[in-house]
Amino acid sequence: MSEIRLIDVAMQYVTHKAQVRALDRISLTVPDGQFACIVGPSGCGKSTLLMVAAGLVTPSEGEVLVDGKPATAPGADRGMVFQSYSLYPWLSVRRNIEFGMEIKRTPRTERQLRSGELIHLMKLDGFAEAYPKALSGGMKQRAAIARALANDPQVLLMDEPFGALDAQTRQIMQEMLTDLWQRFRKTVLFVTHDIDEAIFLGDVIYVMTNRPGRIRTTLRVDLPRPRTFDMVGGPHFAQLRNQVVGIIHEESLKAVESELARA
Ligand code: ADP
Repeated sequence: MSEIRLIDVAMQYVTHKAQVRALDRISLTVPDGQFACIVGPSGCGKSTLLMVAAGLVTPSEGEVLVDGKPATAPGADRGMVFQSYSLYPWLSVRRNIEFGMEIKRTPRTERQLRSGELIHLMKLDGFAEAYPKALSGGMKQRAAIARALANDPQVLLMDEPFGALDAQTRQIMQEMLTDLWQRFRKTVLFVTHDIDEAIFLGDVIYVMTNRPGRIRTTLRVDLPRPRTFDMVGGPHFAQLRNQVVGIIHEESLKAVESELARA
């Protein structure tokens, strides 16, 4: 049982110039083994939401619970993958993957066994001793996913992990991630601005409002699994896409209008 729950989370950034209310009373529960995606207009607070869930920032109000226990700081129970910067450039792929296990003082043989398995699973054979700068974008993100999985976290938190990749690599990574998820059934909270990606990957999609971000709509994705790319052209996919595009368009217009009103 590994559920992550956000209860009435609000986030107010205070800078020397202004106060920015990024999130406003967000409540959501991702139950054990569910793949939940968050989409919303740019600047609506998606990354902030994930950082709060990771314990990297403290919300101004509300709380985060993992399996009912308050999660107020980063922990091995939550693995994180960002768009970039998930890997330490000064460590090899293998050492990056083993880093969390080293911190937990996992015995060396166990560490090596686990990193070897993950290297193979993420199709990084032959690159164990390579440094991140020698890897392609897709390989870096595969290594970042391996690193996040190394401590066998209860929850995976992913912030636009494929956002910097070209279209083909992105598709391959999406396929790899759904396969991986079918196999491990981790609880996943995945932020993306790519609506097709959210539909392809998710069991459920939370669509956020314009800032301050709230959950405007929750949509279930009733596409069968395993997911395949021929579903992208299907009627259910198209209907969900239209629904999400419509909401995000409305929210983006509201953002422009409130910017104009402030000017
Ligand atoms: P998204 O990921 O949806 O694009 P973010 O969570 O990055 O949105 O940002 C939400 C809002 O909070 C934006 O207006 C952004 O400028 C603001 N913001 C994000 N981080 C900070 C920060 N560290 N200090 C002040 N404002 C911030």
